[in-house]
Amino acid sequence: MIDQVTTAALAGTYIDVLALDSLRFALPGRVFTPGDDGYEEARAGFGVSDLPTPDVVVVVTSSGDVTAAVNFARSQQLPVGVKATGHNFGFPYRGGLMINTERMQGFSIDLERHIARVEAGVHWGPVVAAAHQYGLAPLNGSAPHVGIVGYTLFGGFGWLLRKYGAAVDSVVAADVVTADGVLHRVSETSEPELFWALRGASGNFGIVTALEFKLHPVSEIYGGAMFFPMERAREVLTTYSEWVKTVPDELTSSIVMFRVPPVPDVPEMLRGKAVMTIRAAYIGAEADGVALLQPIRSLGGLIADTFRMMPYSESHLISNDPVKGAPSRRSTTMLKHLSAEMIDALVRANGIDSTTAVKLVEIRHLGGAMTRVDPSASAFSQRYAPFIVQTIDAVAGPELAAAAERNTQALVAALQPHSTGGALASWLGNGDYGAERTRAGFSPEHYERLTLLKRRYDPTNMFRLNHNIPPAK
Ligand SMILES: Cc1cc2nc3c(=O)[nH]c(=O)nc-3n(C[C@H](O)[C@H](O)[C@H](O)COP(=O)(O)OP(=O)(O)OC[C@H]3O[C@@H](n4cnc5c(N)ncnc54)[C@H](O)[C@@H]3O)c2cc1C
Repeated sequence: MIDQVTTAALAGTYIDVLALDSLRFALPGRVFTPGDDGYEEARAGFGVSDLPTPDVVVVVTSSGDVTAAVNFARSQQLPVGVKATGHNFGFPYRGGLMINTERMQGFSIDLERHIARVEAGVHWGPVVAAAHQYGLAPLNGSAPHVGIVGYTLFGGFGWLLRKYGAAVDSVVAADVVTADGVLHRVSETSEPELFWALRGASGNFGIVTALEFKLHPVSEIYGGAMFFPMERAREVLTTYSEWVKTVPDELTSSIVMFRVPPVPDVPEMLRGKAVMTIRAAYIGAEADGVALLQPIRSLGGLIADTFRMMPYSESHLISNDPVKGAPSRRSTTMLKHLSAEMIDALVRANGIDSTTAVKLVEIRHLGGAMTRVDPSASAFSQRYAPFIVQTIDAVAGPELAAAAERNTQALVAALQPHSTGGALASWLGNGDYGAERTRAGFSPEHYERLTLLKRRYDPTNMFRLNHNIPPAK
């Protein structure tokens, strides 16, 4: 009967009006379809390129709401995606149902067990601040407004990585609603297979409503950034590549090539300049931190040096990531090494004389604790690359977009001989995504096991509006 169905605006699917009405009745003011007041706000996020255009957005406040949304999606055969903050937008999806968790902001800290429990929508900022009061720290990343669940379950590389591992390795339990609408509590001892899959394959297996993870005894760090002129890229990169071979696990760092935009909110000494930046966090005393950074500082000719002892709650100031996204073209490559050949390729492609440079290249030093975890412990598979590189270029307008595409492809090709071939799913997006790239995130054995588990937990691939792992046939 035509008056009982509506054509979903964007996907050409049909949604039963009565079913939609009863969902709206059950979750008043929290179900949005295109054209509704609140739809635009509910689907938006940090990422602004390729914004998803779901048929229905459900803003959930509890695991009961998540179950209702999943049951509705199943009854209407709608694919499902989940958004906490939208930091991983950047691959388009049209139609389907988006579960928006941004109102699930509860969290608690168990001071005896040093475990935090967070609801699905919680960002790092408040948890870092709360844990800091007790001399504890989670394994958060560079930006306080990134969502904990999305960051953690795909891996999660932060400033404490080399000492305490990837965030995913600190997860002890999760509550998750699977495609059949059932809420599971998963851990090493409760549904261990689902727990294994979630830690690495994230939203492919369900909607996590709460996550529990270990906190670590870090109160202060010696952290900051040193800035050098881009003209010295080769020298700074070469020194960095030798230096990282000598540093202890207490020190995690990155090196950045950055064309700083000429905008007023950037300090004048950096505004509009092309710079090399070395960022680092050291867990230990100031004198030891100063001694460790000496080979870098003694390069001399610094434009700026922001290193200082800082409370861990200020660790986000090391990178000063933007709070709002901008249209961009990204790429990510796991690197085998920072060899002389690789540095040469990078400087030729992106150094001061390059006419095809991208705006930002960040190479993070990995290794340490992450490599000492049993690789079969979870689905997460990117343990052994010693470095990960991310590139970002601006795409405001068609001309810039075309140039960004060309330049990014050239840079990725230059780095290719030095790549492990792996990828980190949470860094995919904005022109660098797709089935092959997701697959590259996992070892062949893990990928095969994931497809078999996907067939068990989500045989129709309901959770596919993501970096998708399809069920085995
Ligand atoms: C400015 C910036 C800084 C960053 N810094 C770092 C960093 O230092 N280290 C690092 O490793 N990464 C970093 N990232 C990458 C970031 O970890 C990923 O983009 C991550 O996926 C963001 O998670 P989110 O929930 O905020 O984003 P969203 O876009 O809301 O979600 C991303 C994905 O996470 C999964 N997900 C989210 N919530 C749930 C849920 N409740 N249940 C199941 N799955 C869920 C889904 O697959 C979803 O598609 C950064 C990204 C940005 C933009």
